[in-house]
Amino acid sequence: MIPFLDLHAGYAELQPEIDAAVARVLDSGCYIGGEDVAGFEAEWAAYCSAAHCVGTGNGLDALILSLRACGIGPGDGVIVPSNTYIATWLAVSAVGATLQPVETDPATHNIDPARIAAAVTPETRAIMPVHLYGQPADLDPILEIARAHDLRVIEDAAQAHGARYKGRRIGAHGDAVCWSFYPGKNLGAMGDAGAVTTDDPEIAARVRRLGNYGSDRKYVNVERGVNSRLDPLQAAILRVKLAHLDEWTERRRALAAAYAEALEGTGLTLPQVPKWAEPAWHLYVVRSPERDALQARLTEAGVGTLIHYPIPPHMQEAYADLGLAPDSLPMAKQLAGEVLSLPMGPHLEPEASWRLRDALA
Ligand SMILES: *Cc1c(COP(=O)(O)O)cnc(C)c1O
Repeated sequence: MIPFLDLHAGYAELQPEIDAAVARVLDSGCYIGGEDVAGFEAEWAAYCSAAHCVGTGNGLDALILSLRACGIGPGDGVIVPSNTYIATWLAVSAVGATLQPVETDPATHNIDPARIAAAVTPETRAIMPVHLYGQPADLDPILEIARAHDLRVIEDAAQAHGARYKGRRIGAHGDAVCWSFYPGKNLGAMGDAGAVTTDDPEIAARVRRLGNYGSDRKYVNVERGVNSRLDPLQAAILRVKLAHLDEWTERRRALAAAYAEALEGTGLTLPQVPKWAEPAWHLYVVRSPERDALQARLTEAGVGTLIHYPIPPHMQEAYADLGLAPDSLPMAKQLAGEVLSLPMGPHLEPEASWRLRDALA
């Protein structure tokens, strides 16, 4: 059997270090904030080459708090990719702003910068590119459009830990960069966790305040915030795992390279990597018009696969009120019918790629 992802293997590899980190927090008597939260924030900011990092309770909150910190709310338009995990859209809805979906480039599965300029209206206030599957979006043209129209760029980097765009790590290209450390992400906690990285001290301070009841000083509340803080147990675990992130990304890269070789000529559309991109390989997503049959065949051969994502946001019941016909965003609809995510993670040997090839022969 080849599981889609073996989360326990990540614990097994680092168990003594993780157990010691957890014990340290339990012994500290400090269960909100504290040294491990501040330590992880400093280490993650440094890793991302960002001036600031603010921990949050999860990735969705990182997106919502970043939008709020940029002053985006009702009446404002936010450009989002049509093909993404629904969290990107939900964040925009949560602040009462208007979704402006833009279709993705079928070659990269990421938002198509050429279509963004045409989607900008006088209401547009921000662009939210998603580095989907760990492939960096084409940020330079996006930043250029943002500059020309005075828009904020809020990146959804929930799948892009360690990915590089033109040699520089994702983490501070846009105004705010939003991270999830959900257990299955490339840098995964053992529960919910998230963060925002940014070079802008005002955005950092406002995200921190909004996630702490709108308060910088205990019992002094200057705005209506929420409770969304990074848990110290998760921070301590993330510090352990961060030290191994580059090595784990290397293993993902080796598996992706093995897939590219083993699956050549099988008729599947394999991921295409632009020359300026160094993906983090959160997911290895292939495409086939016969996707369901392909998935059934791999299941029979003991190979676990998943679909990211089977229903695009505009076709979800949650967004029925927008009245967006399935074919209004045809690329998102088509991708949902054709994509298949192969097993991917730091604990799967590259040799597994040949088992997949045999299963498809
Ligand atoms: C995981 C994910 C999120 C949300 O992260 P949570 O920590 O689960 O709230 C947002 N956007 C994308 C693209 C994701 O993959």
